[in-house]
Amino acid sequence: MDAVDIVGLARALVDIDSTTGREGAAGRWLADYLRGRGWSVVEQRVDATRFNVIASPGGTAGGDAGDREASPSVTFSTHFDCVPPFFPSRVEGDRLYGRGACDAKGIIAAQVAAADRLRREGNPGVGLLFVVGEERGSDGARAANDTPLSHGSRFLVDGEPTDNRLGLATRGILRLRLRARGRAAHSSFPELGESAIDKLIDALVELRSIPLPDDPVLGRTHYTIGLVEGGVAPNVVSPSAEAEVMFRTVSDATGVRRAVAPLEPRLSIEHVLEVPPVRLLTLPGFDAEVFPYTTDIPFLSAWGEPLLFGPGSIHVAHTADEFVSIEELTAAADHYVTLARALLAQ
Ligand SMILES: [Zn+2]
Repeated sequence: MDAVDIVGLARALVDIDSTTGREGAAGRWLADYLRGRGWSVVEQRVDATRFNVIASPGGTAGGDAGDREASPSVTFSTHFDCVPPFFPSRVEGDRLYGRGACDAKGIIAAQVAAADRLRREGNPGVGLLFVVGEERGSDGARAANDTPLSHGSRFLVDGEPTDNRLGLATRGILRLRLRARGRAAHSSFPELGESAIDKLIDALVELRSIPLPDDPVLGRTHYTIGLVEGGVAPNVVSPSAEAEVMFRTVSDATGVRRAVAPLEPRLSIEHVLEVPPVRLLTLPGFDAEVFPYTTDIPFLSAWGEPLLFGPGSIHVAHTADEFVSIEELTAAADHYVTLARALLAQ
């Protein structure tokens, strides 16, 4: 069987709209493609229409792996859902454009090419795990952590755009909702009311001067006030106001929680979401870097010690111009082979 056509595979995947929530068609196509190349594929249900694609070299691998039941100890993994809006693939010079070209369908193509090469060489040690839902809550990864198929996997090589460098660590997330309550009044008699918006603004200004945890590797905690909402009309003292603050954490979230606690009880603080920061395994011979974003890794702990590696830049992921360099994409497949060999030797 021929080697995997990386660009062709990436384009075929990009051209199927798999915006988070409607990954079914892309999952079916990918599962069929892998079966067609002799992989043993499990479609793991996540909900009524969506499933993860889990593949192992199976009993039909070439070389002397032929009759053995393969139990991969290295798993290449990423997600096949994308952020909106969908746009199809096109090639211009060295660049493959399209939604998911960089995040993360190009990565799927590079991982499949690498795993397929190792399998055809008779090496049964590498399996594949492609999940849904990474861009919204990681429901695919959470489901994947709950299957016996993870047994035996010692290393998880997660693919996200890292410009073909290994991740040293990734930041976590703490999302808090700050909610202020007031009392409505006619704005010509403000003294009869109590402005929730004023309370919220005061708290957000105070937040700027609160010292937040820092870490020698990951740096300082930073945050974004991504949503602010409040009030009912220009001539009414606001009875309610709220803001959502997204912290990019560098340590256990209790540090941030303790730091912002003095803002209570003027307003209530609701914990919406928490994803811990992650320390990653590195290997000699690869550049390693800290990445400020989160990945599915915290939800895939059953799949072994985590590494992070992928072609493409996080700066073009999620943009209207999303692309990956074809040279980088092709090189990534070689790097994945090198990584797997090093891990299998451990
Ligand atoms: Zn991604």
